Amino acid sequence: MTFYGGVNEIGGNKILLEDRDTRIFFDFGMSYALKKQFYSPPFLSPKTEKSLQELGILPKIDGIYRFDGKASDVDAVFLSHGHMDHSAYLSFIKREIPVYCGETTRIILQASGETRRADLEFDVEDIDFKTFRTGNKIRVDSLEVEPVHVDHSVPGAYGFIAYTSNGAVAYTGDFRMHGAKPDMTRDFVDKVKHAEPVAVVSEATNMTGASVSSEREVEDKLNCIVEQANGIVLASFALSDVDRLNTFYRVAKRNSRCLAVSLKQAHVMERLQEDKGLRVPSLSDESVLLFRKSKKRMDKWETQLTERHEGQVVDVFEVSKRQCNAVLAISFYDLEELVELQPSAGSCFILSASEPFNEEMEIDFERLVNWLRHYGLPEYHVHVSGHIMPLQLKSVLKEMNAQKIFPIHTENAELFAKFMRDLKSATVLPEKGKEYQI
Ligand SMILES: [Zn+2]
Ligand SMILES: [Zn+2]
Repeated sequence: MTFYGGVNEIGGNKILLEDRDTRIFFDFGMSYALKKQFYSPPFLSPKTEKSLQELGILPKIDGIYRFDGKASDVDAVFLSHGHMDHSAYLSFIKREIPVYCGETTRIILQASGETRRADLEFDVEDIDFKTFRTGNKIRVDSLEVEPVHVDHSVPGAYGFIAYTSNGAVAYTGDFRMHGAKPDMTRDFVDKVKHAEPVAVVSEATNMTGASVSSEREVEDKLNCIVEQANGIVLASFALSDVDRLNTFYRVAKRNSRCLAVSLKQAHVMERLQEDKGLRVPSLSDESVLLFRKSKKRMDKWETQLTERHEGQVVDVFEVSKRQCNAVLAISFYDLEELVELQPSAGSCFILSASEPFNEEMEIDFERLVNWLRHYGLPEYHVHVSGHIMPLQLKSVLKEMNAQKIFPIHTENAELFAKFMRDLKSATVLPEKGKEYQI
């Protein structure tokens, strides 16, 4: 096993597992932390993959990239979920390499791709997606891989168990026990336990700043805020966090308000209707509005989407007139809309994502606060993490009882090792690019 990302950083997971002649990757994500060291989009952005490799943001690996002109030497990529820090660098892989993922992940990645202009780092066009469900077992040459659903802040998240010639290796992806569907994570833990793993590769994001909360509690808190607000409620949350979207939808409805979502979010919501296993508010629901930003030119997908839902589309002037009837989902990139919106007295802003960044975008907190100060908007932070809390993680890892644990997706691997030191499993702190024998 070789870790090409996710080492001493939150995200950027790219884990190579080799067994006999079979080579697979778990995830192929982008590292926000590394990218931030050199780039500041949109004006300072990588122009080519060469720059990304030069700066060590995209690791040098033979036989995986479509630009290297060499024969493919990777048999498959298994994607745990659709967050950018796990999936974005699929952009660079050879299109003949199959990418296994859940149906929901495929929809989210393709739908977000459709709303983006051509981009070096987020291009999933022509990717050979092969979708699975829990209960499937996928054979890749000598290796069998079993995906099992887990709960995370994006739907369609999975952990994996790979049955290698030296025993089972489990990969948690990103997971939690305190979300809306803890039973799914429970199923994964049980499966791993029964597989008697030789190794578990585990996320360990939350080693500091941990809290005890739940999506249910988030709903109560949001309701408490919305019910008191006199003006507009501005809400910032991750586009693909369907649990949070449902929570905001219910809270808006309970308070006789509409939830206005961006066209980007509406597009993803519409595509997710295909997924029968998911509950997503319908765009034809009278409590849902599509918010069209003030700009001159619309992309083709925007024109088509607004034509399909004509009666539900509102612009900033209409929202401005009915501020006390709206919860407006707004991202950091929409702050310019406030100029026309002119939030009335008694309005407020709810940051319902992790700070300083969520797994889809970086939040420039300092600039956000300046906008809020200018318009007299107090800021509430109401959020529950997509990642498992330390004591729950310890209890889960104790149950899994692997010979070795590799903590990744964390800036606190050493803290993790000390915290876990009384488990029977040995913690191995992975180094980037080093090969580990299982
Ligand atoms: Zn992640
Ligand atoms: Zn994630």
